[in-house]
Amino acid sequence: MNLSESESLRAMLAGEQDLVVVNSCAVTSEAVRQTRQAIRRARLARPLARLLVTGCAAEVERGALAAMPEVDGLIANTAKLDPRAWNVAPAALAASARHTRAFIVVQNGCDHACTFCVIPQGRGPSRSVPIEGVLGDIARHLDCGTREVVLTGVDLTSWGHDLPGAPRLGTLVQAILSRFPSLPRLRLSSVDGVEIDPLLFDLIASEARLMPHLHLSLQHGNDLILKRMKRRHLRRDALELVHALKARRPDLAIGADLIAGFPTEDEAAHQDNVSIIAELAIVHGHIFPYSPRPGTPAARMPQVQVPEIKARAAQLREAVAAQRSHWLSSLMGKRLSVLAERDGTGHAPNFARVALPPGTKAGDLVTITPTRIAEGLLA
Ligand code: SF4
Repeated sequence: MNLSESESLRAMLAGEQDLVVVNSCAVTSEAVRQTRQAIRRARLARPLARLLVTGCAAEVERGALAAMPEVDGLIANTAKLDPRAWNVAPAALAASARHTRAFIVVQNGCDHACTFCVIPQGRGPSRSVPIEGVLGDIARHLDCGTREVVLTGVDLTSWGHDLPGAPRLGTLVQAILSRFPSLPRLRLSSVDGVEIDPLLFDLIASEARLMPHLHLSLQHGNDLILKRMKRRHLRRDALELVHALKARRPDLAIGADLIAGFPTEDEAAHQDNVSIIAELAIVHGHIFPYSPRPGTPAARMPQVQVPEIKARAAQLREAVAAQRSHWLSSLMGKRLSVLAERDGTGHAPNFARVALPPGTKAGDLVTITPTRIAEGLLA
């Protein structure tokens, strides 16, 4: 989300002189720490520039950021893509589609209330972009050479509930695939497994142009912790979903977000978190050491000690690394279609990163048969 929104901001503000914008994140306390650091660095590098801060931290930590001497002003997160908030002409909001892979934001905000999460405070309630708006955005990117579209949202699978007729995400995915038969690749960013509708399930299981890569907003492997998080799934829901999808599409690569050291997590609960990594064969893992966020219910629950949280996060990362290394080895000798990016690497359909031969042009789809793994990349 932030990557895509930062691209839009860059395009919208391209004509502005001496302006630095920090598009901040508040998802963890570490993200806020990095935001402050980015602000200080930006000020050192550009002492005379106007420095404005937007993003979730500009909502959640408004007072603290506004008080930093380096900051000249804050822009509300919900207004940041509105040219009026920056005093620039609307025409300046042209498509900045220069990437082979385009992140298309189809939904923003969230109506849920997971007990650890500060995002609804930072981004407000769920809003969906209507189908025609999404199709128009994709068409602009395709005209500029995009070969892969990644549908993105804060709570992507809730897309549509606020639109007339309350369409589900499967309807949007199908509309994109039929409107753009020449689009080689469509990918979903992160999904909430229990919100996958039957059409979307079918498309993930069988549609070749929808990439075999499912990133689950899983958060934990223990039912009691999931309930305390106020998540809407249990461990067995995730297992059943992945097994049912893999039965139809065995090459599906699974990713997941997991939180280490959620309040009240004991050793047995942590072990459930570790073991779900192997049970689901999670090969793309985002591990977040829990940190209390202001105003959230979890911040008032009995906390796990920080060194223990760090140790548990390290164990989760090790477990993902083991799955990943096993998975990468299993791809040796397989023909993979890789979309070349600008930095000499590219991604296979299953999101494995592949080092490409020198001279491969960004945007080309090339077939690679990997023979080795070098620094985490297939080569
Ligand atoms: S679904 Fe839960 S974790 Fe995700 S943004 Fe909404 S409140 Fe936060």
